[in-house]
Amino acid sequence: MAQAAAKKTEAAKKKGKVHSKRWSHYAIKGDKLERKNRFCPKCGEGNFMGEHKNRRACGKCGYTEIISSK
Ligand SMILES: [Zn+2]
Repeated sequence: MAQAAAKKTEAAKKKGKVHSKRWSHYAIKGDKLERKNRFCPKCGEGNFMGEHKNRRACGKCGYTEIISSK
């Protein structure tokens, strides 16, 4: 089963390269860290809400916020 072992090693290598997804929610502005997404008011800080076309939704509790267009 050398093939299976090789596959496992490859997956492990890939896993180590993956950066924390959390950082995609932040943007560096000058020397300040800016949050791109809103936090869920129900779950509190740390729980980002999913950004959709016209709404934000929390994947944890299901809270949905409609984004009103200008
Ligand atoms: Zn929530």
